Amino acid sequence: MTLRGDTPEEVIVLGSGTSHGVPMIGCDCRVCTSADPRDRRTRTSLFVRTAGVRILIDTSPELRLQCVAHGIKMVDVVLYTHHHADHVVGLDDLRRFNWLMRTHMVVRGTVETLERVRRMFPYAFADDADYPSAKPSLVMEPISDVPFQVGAATVLPIPMMHGKLPVLGFRFGRFAYCTDCNFIPAESLDRLKGLDVLILDALRRRPHPTHFNLEQAVEMAQRIGAERTYFTHIAHELGHEETNADLPDGMALSCDGLTLTFD
Ligand SMILES: [Zn+2]
Ligand SMILES: [Zn+2]
Ligand SMILES: [Zn+2]
Repeated sequence: MTLRGDTPEEVIVLGSGTSHGVPMIGCDCRVCTSADPRDRRTRTSLFVRTAGVRILIDTSPELRLQCVAHGIKMVDVVLYTHHHADHVVGLDDLRRFNWLMRTHMVVRGTVETLERVRRMFPYAFADDADYPSAKPSLVMEPISDVPFQVGAATVLPIPMMHGKLPVLGFRFGRFAYCTDCNFIPAESLDRLKGLDVLILDALRRRPHPTHFNLEQAVEMAQRIGAERTYFTHIAHELGHEETNADLPDGMALSCDGLTLTFD
């Protein structure tokens, strides 16, 4: 085991869309009406299988649909990148894993993130449920910027900024996942050296106060220098095929269902 952790056996992009999803409600633009299935994006979320541990990163509003679509039947732990609604509000669907796994779900994030999640879902932490499965059974375990274990897997947190909000990316061996960010400090860039695959936030072409736009994301991806970089948290302004045609070699938009395996 190295400090940077074990490289996953499998990574599945469960959702690659920005907070509104694509298509957006009430939008008739070219991408929202596209027939290309890769232009349909649920909210950002990731599944990682590593060292025999099944990790869900964030609980998007479409968690149930994502798990059904991509055959996710077991999750051992949930890691939160931050508390924004598009990353959290599917939390109630964790009840199903309580049932399937016959145990509570361990939920990990920074102290601040976990506190915000607790305030968003007071019923999940109250003792007044009518029957046991009426609320998810969760055990919160805080993490910081130091490497931590999830079962046999070592995970390296990547502290980043999302506007003014500190958030975490996560590195698993030669793979790293960095969504919802527009600044990566030098110490975190050090933690991103020697990657086979990076998944990085790239919202749209126009600038945004809390997300990398495509130009900034490409620049950051070049700086990090992973062999392959996929972009995520994508808004309706970026059509899958036309955007990919313009991107440098080794970079592409991700899409829902994109599955990565590592040798
Ligand atoms: Zn987000
Ligand atoms: Zn649109
Ligand atoms: Zn966010």
